[in-house]
Amino acid sequence: TMRESYSSENDSGFKCLKPELRPIVVVGGYGQLGGLFCRLFELSGYQVRKLGSQDWDCADDILADAGMVVVSVPINLTEQIIAKLDHLPDDCILADLTSIKSGPLQAMLEVHRGPVIGLHPMFGPDIASLAKQVVVYCDGRHPESYQWLLEQIQIWGATLNRISAIEHDQGMTLIQALRHFTSFVYGVHLAEEDPQLELLLSLSSPIYRLELAMVGRLFAQDAQLYADIIMSAPQNLAMIKRFHQRFGEAIEMLERQDKEAFTQAFNQVEHWFGDYAQHFLTESQGLLRQANDSTHR
Ligand code: NAD
Repeated sequence: TMRESYSSENDSGFKCLKPELRPIVVVGGYGQLGGLFCRLFELSGYQVRKLGSQDWDCADDILADAGMVVVSVPINLTEQIIAKLDHLPDDCILADLTSIKSGPLQAMLEVHRGPVIGLHPMFGPDIASLAKQVVVYCDGRHPESYQWLLEQIQIWGATLNRISAIEHDQGMTLIQALRHFTSFVYGVHLAEEDPQLELLLSLSSPIYRLELAMVGRLFAQDAQLYADIIMSAPQNLAMIKRFHQRFGEAIEMLERQDKEAFTQAFNQVEHWFGDYAQHFLTESQGLLRQANDSTHR
């Protein structure tokens, strides 16, 4: 399969598109996502250095001849760490992997006058390969000098998606902040209600099992990362409050036993989804077949 061919390519290495590049420094390279990118760069033949939290005493040496610097540190520290990168060579590419884009991109443009690009890998460090994964990017400055990087990421198997930092952050309000927050609240609710998980699973259809998995997997990850993502922008809280308000309105509808209003709202949403409603039904049936195959293996 495609997935297997990509993971075997991982072992043997990837084509190097910029062999003359000076060392790549990954700030936060001992972390999860930074570590993954270090491995990908090394497997592609680049010279990689890690700059960890204990390394700032010798940062000038590590950074002096950098060809590219990639920032992958906790979100809440990102802008202050970027602000320390004020002595990079002029032709050095400055990039970041942060899950939010406006603030870090602005900070990179302010601290460095050379090429700047913001990246947001839409995956966590637990993936086996980049095949079928998406990397979103925001142009910062001198895009001609980092086209090779974008091509390199495609060689790793990922698909690229270009967007403005503002549009990215607006999209992430729904895709990350609201979704992770509703998973968080559902998890809190389950823990408070304290049902027997085994019993729930034994009663579950595959789709509920999948839903439980989507919620449960959040709590196998880093609380700080999700707190930072959810609290990264004021528009996130505003969006979550609007969701809360609609939840309240829907509960009032239940209290009135208003099936007519329910049906009307239901049809309105169906209309909003348009052709996607049917498409998603088919797509989820395929996913469920796969999920079912893997749980019974
Ligand atoms: P992580 O905590 O695993 O890694 C962060 C690393 O930064 C750690 O090794 C930490 O020691 C180091 N660090 C802390 N302070 C530092 C300092 N002053 N100087 C240098 N290094 C320092 O976190 P992560 O999950 O790898 O996330 C890193 C970045 O990747 C974040 O911006 C996050 O938004 C982004 N990201 C993460 C994921 C994910 O699923 N993990 C997905 C997409 C994007």
